[in-house]
Amino acid sequence: MKGYAMLGIGKTGWIEKEMPRCGPLDAIVRPIAVAPCTSDVHTVWEGAIGEKHNLILGHEGVGEVVETGNLVKDFKKGDKVIIPAITPDWNSVQAQAGYSMHSGQMLGGWKFSNQKDGVFGEFFHVNDADGNLAILPEGMDPAAAAMLSDMIPTGLHGSELAQVQYGDTVCVIGIGPVGLMGVRGAVLKGASRLFAVGSRPNCINIAKEYGATDIINYKDGGILEQVMAKTNGAGVDRVIIAGGDNDTFAEAVRMLKPGGAIGNINYLGSGDYIKIPRLEWGVGMGHKMINGGLMPGGRLRMEKLADLVVSGRIDPAKLITHPFEGFEKIEEALMLMKDKPKDLIKPVVTIAW
Ligand code: NDP
Ligand code: ZN
Repeated sequence: MKGYAMLGIGKTGWIEKEMPRCGPLDAIVRPIAVAPCTSDVHTVWEGAIGEKHNLILGHEGVGEVVETGNLVKDFKKGDKVIIPAITPDWNSVQAQAGYSMHSGQMLGGWKFSNQKDGVFGEFFHVNDADGNLAILPEGMDPAAAAMLSDMIPTGLHGSELAQVQYGDTVCVIGIGPVGLMGVRGAVLKGASRLFAVGSRPNCINIAKEYGATDIINYKDGGILEQVMAKTNGAGVDRVIIAGGDNDTFAEAVRMLKPGGAIGNINYLGSGDYIKIPRLEWGVGMGHKMINGGLMPGGRLRMEKLADLVVSGRIDPAKLITHPFEGFEKIEEALMLMKDKPKDLIKPVVTIAW
């Protein structure tokens, strides 16, 4: 079969591979809508997880089941399914401890385009199918549903990590597709005032549509100064980080009120340390919590998030600025993600076989 792969750091291309094999608990799926992610860009062009050769990329997709293992109970050939980016081993001790995304090892639930071939192949393998697949709801557009693999669960996890409560003032740093879902998640969790930090006009428009009350353009001056000016020096209760770099933490800690929390969902692709300012962290005693996490995967979570889309609470279609048709368009879509033209939020490729 054919797939679009990382050939080595900084290099991608089409390759031929053996068909994946289906274990007793697994499924083999054929993609019908897939999307590239900024994480693919960190992986290939920053070499953020080290050298990888001939690894098929992609971890966001909707597909059709073509084969299931003999122990799979709830899915069968022909089912249309949403595949979460994170597919934990549900019988691991880490999953029993409540951290399925770290099953087996830290970040162990992140298998596609990391530990094994991803969804940019003509076929791909899903471990623990009963635990990790979710049926595509009747009538849901597969391209929009592809946002349920990663953008929705990751963005919403930002508001969980930041522990957003009713009435909180929240700052979301970074409003690409992930941060935009962070905005929506914080609104659904009860944020009152919500600062959205970004510069691209169409991201700003959607941030407002998702419920941001104030826009902060980080190119017009420091984020900290702008947030402090708008809050009369009080700062914010919660910060969700979905963009920026290792220095962004320093600004986030500074703008946070004591008792507040930072939820980081940004993939820190380079550098050895992040910065925590000693004084503004209350010389170690400020009760300013810093949480960073990989999105939770799994079927139950996916079904619940799909319900948020079905009920109209989240409209993921707004994120799709560059729709493509045809398997071979995966390359173009990934290059767009790398080059990030100003009008891009998210490309999606739909595939009719
Ligand atoms: P984008 O590149 O589309 O968005 C990044 C955002 O950050 C943009 O709004 C950008 O502004 C803003 N930004 C860039 N530089 C700065 C800066 N110096 N200060 C403040 N804001 C800045 O990325 P995505 O939304 O696709 O992804 C966001 C991150 O989430 C990535 O690192 C990705 O790898 C990660 N991720 C993490 C996952 C997880 O499970 N934790 C899963 C999926 C993705 P501008 O408007 O100017 O472009
Ligand atoms: Zn991703």
